[in-house]
Amino acid sequence: MKRYAHYINGSFVDSGDGRTFPTDDPFTGEVWAEIARGGAAEMEAAVEAAAAAFESPAWAGITASARGALLRRIGDVIAANAKYLAEVEVQDNGKLMAEMHAQLRYLPNYYYYYGGLADKIEGANIPLDKPGYMNITEYVPLGVIGIITPWNSPLNLTTWKLAPALAAGCTVVIKPSEFTSASMLELARLIDEAGILPPGVLNVVTGFGAEVGPTLVSHPRVAKIAFTGSDATGRAIYADAARSMKHVTMELGGKSPNIVFDDADLDEAVAGAISGIFAATGQTCLAGSRLLVQDSIHDAFLDRLVAITRTATLGNPAEPGTQIGPVTTPQQFTKVLDYIAVAKAEGARLVVGGERPDLEICSRGRFVQPTIFADVTNQMRIAREEVFGPVLAVIRFKDEDEAVRIANDTIYGLAAGVWTRDMGRAVRMAKAIRAGTVWINTYRALSYMSPFGGFGQSGIGREGGAEMVKEYLQPKSIWMNIGAPPANPFVQR
Ligand code: NAD
Repeated sequence: MKRYAHYINGSFVDSGDGRTFPTDDPFTGEVWAEIARGGAAEMEAAVEAAAAAFESPAWAGITASARGALLRRIGDVIAANAKYLAEVEVQDNGKLMAEMHAQLRYLPNYYYYYGGLADKIEGANIPLDKPGYMNITEYVPLGVIGIITPWNSPLNLTTWKLAPALAAGCTVVIKPSEFTSASMLELARLIDEAGILPPGVLNVVTGFGAEVGPTLVSHPRVAKIAFTGSDATGRAIYADAARSMKHVTMELGGKSPNIVFDDADLDEAVAGAISGIFAATGQTCLAGSRLLVQDSIHDAFLDRLVAITRTATLGNPAEPGTQIGPVTTPQQFTKVLDYIAVAKAEGARLVVGGERPDLEICSRGRFVQPTIFADVTNQMRIAREEVFGPVLAVIRFKDEDEAVRIANDTIYGLAAGVWTRDMGRAVRMAKAIRAGTVWINTYRALSYMSPFGGFGQSGIGREGGAEMVKEYLQPKSIWMNIGAPPANPFVQR
């Protein structure tokens, strides 16, 4: 049995009261590690350490180029340990090894990219309307950043925040999901062993959201909360953060439309629809969970979709041939099965799946068959609410206008896919759909170079891309008198 402690001010420490909580393997259901269960005291200590480090000569006193070099070393450490970190994540969240290994091998790029950016953040010399003055701007780091992450892609979603935050010169306190704390603590250990960051720059406090979260979110020394998770938790954190005037970025849920027109390359579109919903067992915020299919091809397309879905291999996520792994958490497992019942009760037509698989290999884990509902209307709950599991809702449409109307009839706006050979239509659709990302003839493509985030209830702010380092900076305007007439305090200039 492994045992993990918090990482605070450069040391691994247990909770003051010695409390821990178990974390299990979603494939076997077996507890494999004990994680320190933090409270207000541990979070307080971590924030104080981060606040002190933010002003320390070892961090605030180094050049931006030196900071960039440290980020590149973090990238190297992840690259050297990608396989190990992927194994830890698979054990803790049940996602496929094939997927996690690819994700972990890609992760160093974020640190290389933002490391390269660290010394290219330039202010300006503003050509003022006021003679006799010079005005320059510079971008300064916000301060201590609270990073709160969910369980579905722990290191990936942390990195989207951590790399730009460190590049900007901020310090961080990370609160990983209570279901998947291990990989972040493993990464903290690797960074610590390599002696990369001064103590207090990176802190990790583990525990339950309600027990450690509020101290972080309300702490006067925390400048910003960078959150990924459910919209309900995001809304509560946003309201709480407002009381101390914190900056926030919120990456929340989605109900993304994946839209197939009759002139699409249907082989590509079927593959895109399948990976859009069933990759990561549907446990991704960007899942294409509403499949909009044009009337004229609807039945034939559905048949192909169902035929491929029936071939899915469920099983051990660590095996390379597995295509569908378990659902990560017990709560999520219950939620997915509940939504299947709701969809049936609302009159959606179950065309494949809808049960726990009757397979020996899946008997101990939290498995749900890949599931497709047809005859879904956009008013049904299965089309409006995020399931966060392997459940697809198929909706018919007749033309472009109706597709746009259905696509935009949602509180969310995270992503969308459009499948067509008509490039004029593809671009019209991309412009008309209200979503932070629109994919044309592809789905799930992501890069550290491109902004990602949501419209509407899908969130606030963006992650990825050069501009987004400014999410961790604020501009300062500096005025110099270089020969302005003497000031008369009673006359306004
Ligand atoms: P969640 O909202 O339950 O938890 C997210 C994190 O918030 C966890 O670390 C949790 O401990 C913490 N938390 C809970 N209560 C808190 C509080 N009062 N104060 C501070 N922190 C608190 O979400 P989850 O179940 O872990 O993740 C699934 C959700 O995340 C899905 O709804 C999904 O759409 C969303 N998600 C969004 C994105 C995105 O990029 N938009 C990516 C992945 C997941």
